[in-house]
Amino acid sequence: MSRTDHRTPNVTGLRPRSKLVHGGIRRSSFDETCEALYQTSGFVYGSAEEAENAFANDGTRHVYSRFRNPTNAMFEDRLAEYEGAAWAYATASGMAAVHGALLSGLRSGDRVVAPRALFISCYWILKELCPRYGIEVEFIDGTDLSAWEAALSKPAKAVFLETPSNPGLEVVDLRAVCDLAHKAGAYVVVDNAFATPVLQRPFDFGADVIIYSATKHIDGQGRCLGGVILAKDIKYATEVIHPFLRNLGPTLAPFNSWLLLKGMETLELRVNAQTASALEVARFLEGHAKVERVLYPMLPSHPQHDLVRQQMSGGGNMLSIFLKGGKAEAFNTLNGLGMVMISNNLGDSKSLITHPATTTHSKLTDEEKVAAQIKPGLLRLSVGLEDAQDIIEDLDRALSQA
Ligand SMILES: *Cc1c(COP(=O)(O)O)cnc(C)c1O
Repeated sequence: MSRTDHRTPNVTGLRPRSKLVHGGIRRSSFDETCEALYQTSGFVYGSAEEAENAFANDGTRHVYSRFRNPTNAMFEDRLAEYEGAAWAYATASGMAAVHGALLSGLRSGDRVVAPRALFISCYWILKELCPRYGIEVEFIDGTDLSAWEAALSKPAKAVFLETPSNPGLEVVDLRAVCDLAHKAGAYVVVDNAFATPVLQRPFDFGADVIIYSATKHIDGQGRCLGGVILAKDIKYATEVIHPFLRNLGPTLAPFNSWLLLKGMETLELRVNAQTASALEVARFLEGHAKVERVLYPMLPSHPQHDLVRQQMSGGGNMLSIFLKGGKAEAFNTLNGLGMVMISNNLGDSKSLITHPATTTHSKLTDEEKVAAQIKPGLLRLSVGLEDAQDIIEDLDRALSQA
């Protein structure tokens, strides 16, 4: 592997983990080791002609940080190189990414198909926001291929899905659904937050756009909100998605991009360690006297275990724990924990646990809760970077006294 300028790493041919360390880097004339933070809103020009030229040849240089910023670009390129995307754009939160990826391509009269099991704010965009603009949304059971076939037997403009889902850990057959969607004329947006770019590669199965809440594993250290949209087709990205974003302005702040850029360096290490611990924790809980059922993608007891093995290389760090008891036992368990923290966030280096029925999913109607498996005795655990044995002992103590 040779290079002409020794300040610029040659990342072509590097393995994914190395791309997470060197990808996207743009060294300044000061030759810094660590990525520079370009904390600037605008850029200056050497002459009026240069400014005129910058606007005439859109994209050739930086003009304004809502359009592009060098630190954001390093983060975007690093993730795009890792994911195999042609284009990426960093947004202020995961929800700004969902909104931009989905709404940029939709118009009044269009039709969208989505599973019912979605992150609550994604569900809100589809259920409340889309109909306001005359966009029809059909919700289905995402685990049922015949339901996808029926819904996509009519023309559709977009499919939006999350797999595994939060917190039901329902898995959607990515290849089959992407094929059906494309035949119906729809582009497919995958919210890959739970699986992370390390464990599932939706582009390989036909997805057109991937979004992340970078707040979760990409930062993974509880420091900032962030999101990102990745597209496979550069033409679609530059003609449809980017004009929407640069005019509406859900742009990520350069400082947060810089945090996420540094988070990416350890992403594989963290996600793989958390995934290994999560499997240990899941196996332990599966035999626990207080636990009725544990849902974890890589346990053979997961109802879609075969599909999981086809499209994910690991089960991730999230598990759903259905207690034999109800809300009182769930609360007693949370309140009895010594190290695992009560928090509705996830993907963090600290193990976090939440009671979805009274927090993240409290706004759902009773019927919607039943459909999404949000039972009173359900706890959602995000396994962190602590020693797995400490997580197991903490959970065991809290469950036993609950
Ligand atoms: C957290 C999350 C989001 C929203 O991301 P924010 O960064 O909180 O805006 C969207 N989808 C999924 C699956 C999430 O877990």
